[in-house]
This record gives sequence, C-alpha cells and structure tokens, in this order.
Amino acid sequence: MSEAPAPKFPLTIWSDPRFQSHQSSGYHPERPARLDAALRGARAVVAEAHGEERTVRAPATREALSRVHGAAYLDSLDAADAKGARVQLDPDTYFGPGSLAAATLAAGGAVAMVEALLAGETELGMLLARPPGHHAMRDRAMGFCVFNNVAVGAAHARSLGARRVAIVDWDVHHGNGTQDIFWRDPDVLFISLHQAPLYPDSGWVGEHGEGDGEGTTINLPFPAAGDGALYAAAFERVVLPVLDEAKPDLILVSAGYDGHARDPLASMLLRDDDYAWMAARLREAARRWCHGRIGFCLEGGYDLGALELGVAATLRGALDPAAHPTPTEGAPPPAAERIVDGVVRAASPWWRCLREGAAVSAA
Ligand SMILES: [Zn+2]
Repeated sequence: MSEAPAPKFPLTIWSDPRFQSHQSSGYHPERPARLDAALRGARAVVAEAHGEERTVRAPATREALSRVHGAAYLDSLDAADAKGARVQLDPDTYFGPGSLAAATLAAGGAVAMVEALLAGETELGMLLARPPGHHAMRDRAMGFCVFNNVAVGAAHARSLGARRVAIVDWDVHHGNGTQDIFWRDPDVLFISLHQAPLYPDSGWVGEHGEGDGEGTTINLPFPAAGDGALYAAAFERVVLPVLDEAKPDLILVSAGYDGHARDPLASMLLRDDDYAWMAARLREAARRWCHGRIGFCLEGGYDLGALELGVAATLRGALDPAAHPTPTEGAPPPAAERIVDGVVRAASPWWRCLREGAAVSAA
C-alpha cells in the first residue's frame, strides 16, 4: 500500500447511538449496556490521547455485505425486518425492530474504519458496535451475531487493493464465522485464540483451511483457566512470527473481552493488562508491515467493568507499545508450552517461521 501523510489524530474510534436499537425483549447478555461500558473505556483514552471519535455515517451497502454473505441470507433478513416481528435467528440470536438497521450500520462501521486506515487518515482505529460479528457465517446468523463485521471490513480492504489482510481474534469464543467465510481464501490470514471446548465447539488445531486457503487459518484452542502466560507463549511462538512471515497490508482484530477473568460466560483468566500487551505487540507488527495500520472491532465481553477497562487497556497498549512489554516473569507453564507445541506442529507445513522455530527449540 502507498505511503500517506501522517494522520491528524493518533487514534480514531467509531460508534453510533443507533446500535442500541438492537434490543432483546427480556434479559440477554448481549445488551446495550455493554456498548455503553466499552465506550466509556474508549472515550477515556480518546480524551487523554487527543484522539477522535466519529459516528458511522453509512450502513454497509449490499455490495459490501455480499462479499461475505450469501444473497438468500441477506434477503431473509430483509424479509424478517419488513415484517417487524421479533424472531430468533438461531437459539442465541434475537432479531427485532431496529436489529437490521443496527447490524447493517455495524458492518458499515467496519467499512468506514478500513477506508480511513487504508487512506492514511488514521493508523489506529476501533469500532465500537453492536451486534458483534465473528460467529456470523456466510449463510446464517449465529451466536449473537448477524453480519460478520470484521469479515466485511477485511473483504472491503481487499477490494480497495490490500494484498493480504490479517485478522487476529482474541475473543474467548472461536471465530467460526470468520473462519467459514475465509476458509478457502489465501489472502485473508485468520488466527483465532480461544477457549475450547466451549461454544461454538470448533476451532481445533486440525482446522487450517482448504484449497488455496490451506494454512491461512490458524487455531489456538486453549483449555479453561488459560492466563496471560499462555497467551504470551502463543504470541511469541505463533501469532507474531506468522504475522511477520505473512506481511499483511492491514491488521484487523476481533477484540472480545470475554477471556477476562471476570467474564461470566467463559473461564479464562486474562487481566486488563493482558489486553494492553497483546494490542501493543500487534501494533508493533502493524508498524513493521503496514504503516502501523490496525483496526479493532468489538466482539464479545459480558462483564461491564472488564469491557470498559479491557477496551481502554487495548487502546493504551496500541498507542504506546513500548510502555506495555509482554510479561516475562516466570517461564510459561509446561502445559502452555505443550499446547503451543501442538499448534506449531499443525501449522508448520505452511509457515517457514514455525519450522525454524521448532528446529531451534528441539536443538
Ligand atoms: Zn465471545
């Protein structure tokens, strides 16, 4: 991608009050208060870093949605919206008046963020939107997600000339929708770190893409109670070397905060600071390969305090990577090493860096 003048703001966030028109009839963990909490965290960092907040001006076009979703699925949502009734798109995913408008705007936010990043208007973006996206498959809604926002963004980046886009998904659930959409696509690298077994019961190391996309899906399934040391081992030995070999033109992050120790839906042990160093390392990779350009898309996260602080930590880490080193106290536990060893072995046929790393650690 071409060089661009330095951006005016160190950080740009996107959100919109219309996301809150997506509401369930009774209590549901994917609720408007989540976005309020995430926005509090993001706005605190925008204020301290003199960043910029934008509203999402335009919903995603049919063309942008069609790059990652099938026509029959899009038509079925239009029909459900026209009826105006409340329906369940799947057992977990509610849809009512205002849901289609919010979901289309959420995907439009990913489009807007990607356009701003590739135009050099900003280097560091975050989309704070509902509903989330990473479980949405090509042909159906799933797991609170209607449109796959990060996938719409990645496909839009490709349409604008990005040669290769990397998506790193640290939501505690496997990003099965994103994997589905780019399963055969060699130009979108998808790396997911998640608790397994856990919903949606996919994302095992043997799932690595097919056809031309073989090897460009990498799954890191972690057992419950994984902590920062496990994620640090995964970043050092898999995520960062693969990003350096892939040399993406843009890095997008499916940023969920349900891996936080306080989250009620999962059992991982990440702390606020872990989101800061993970974001810091990804921003450094973006500086090495794509002019610093990185965009975070809010996915899950169901403890309001963890969401607020996790979002703020992410942005602080991405803004000032040097101030957020990867924690090195103590060696990673042997169990963590074994898990990462398994991922390295599974992905090494397609990644020279993993073969070299394996040789070094065996020596
Ligand atoms: Zn999740």
